[in-house]
Amino acid sequence: DFGVLTLGDALITFNPSVTGPMRYVPTFSRKVGGAELNFAIGCARLGLNSKWVSRLGGDEFGRVIYNFARGEGIDVSEVKLVEGYPTSLNFKEIREDGSGKTFYYRYQSPILTMEPSDITEQMLDGIDLVHLTGVFMAIDKKNIEITKKLLILANQKNIPVSFDPNIRLKLWTIEEATAAYMNIFPYVDILLTGLDEIEMILGDSTEQALVECAKRFKISELVIKDGGNGARVYTNNNWYKQEAFQVTPIDTVGAGDGFDAGYIYSYLHEYEPNERLEFANGVGALVTTVSGDNEGLPELSEVLAFIRNDKVIER
Ligand code: ATP
Repeated sequence: DFGVLTLGDALITFNPSVTGPMRYVPTFSRKVGGAELNFAIGCARLGLNSKWVSRLGGDEFGRVIYNFARGEGIDVSEVKLVEGYPTSLNFKEIREDGSGKTFYYRYQSPILTMEPSDITEQMLDGIDLVHLTGVFMAIDKKNIEITKKLLILANQKNIPVSFDPNIRLKLWTIEEATAAYMNIFPYVDILLTGLDEIEMILGDSTEQALVECAKRFKISELVIKDGGNGARVYTNNNWYKQEAFQVTPIDTVGAGDGFDAGYIYSYLHEYEPNERLEFANGVGALVTTVSGDNEGLPELSEVLAFIRNDKVIER
């Protein structure tokens, strides 16, 4: 199948055993998180050859993430465990109404040891698409250079690039983020963004502003995700729209990453625009029905059955 490469930090995520303010939560369950890793897992479950480039702490938690990724069938040949840097952590608080907050402990993230020279042409052997997110760039200024080097290499080799801004205002300001995105957009073919995010970036989310953005940066697919309202894409001078699937969401974290994986899978397999949105909406919806950032990422057969509304035989 097709090969996809992504680059980014991963964290150990602690999910609270009870809802309410974190100071009153006595126990947590240990999980694995990180936008780009979620994407890599999503791609691997759909059957793509999924390569994830990262640095993890040379500690016990680093090994947890490494083994988890390997267990999912991800190519971890470009993941290194770095001594002296603790693996990043993140604790979640979930309120009674299901809304959440995140507390990061990622001051000396092992990903800070990556240098532009770590990005090599040979990394892109067998790769048909490069996917990046704004989280990696938000962690450190140097990461913008690393990102750019990878994008320039991909462009030179005619490998399409997808990008999800994944704004993290706990890591940088909207002004810093927007400046970095503007630097990156000229290299991007497929922009996958939340409606609220593109509104923050452009200061305007009317279709006219979105079309202008796509034209200005020569973005061939501008995909707008809008939670329970579904998604739309501007491509080939047309808008295509698809409603979300009706589900009862339990935990929406990771739905956007799953959507991205679904969109990229169907893009590489040359689905029509409406089918790409339907497939990606299917993956996103399934992710929301399971607690955890990546536990709900479906296998290919599950998405196809869900979209076709097949009955699942459980026993
Ligand atoms: P995040 O990065 O926080 O996961 P995002 O803004 O990138 O979020 P959303 O727009 O919240 O992504 O969700 C992505 C996709 O997941 C939606 O476009 C939709 O297909 C699916 N989805 C999300 N929430 C729901 C829901 N309540 N019901 C059905 N589908 C949903």
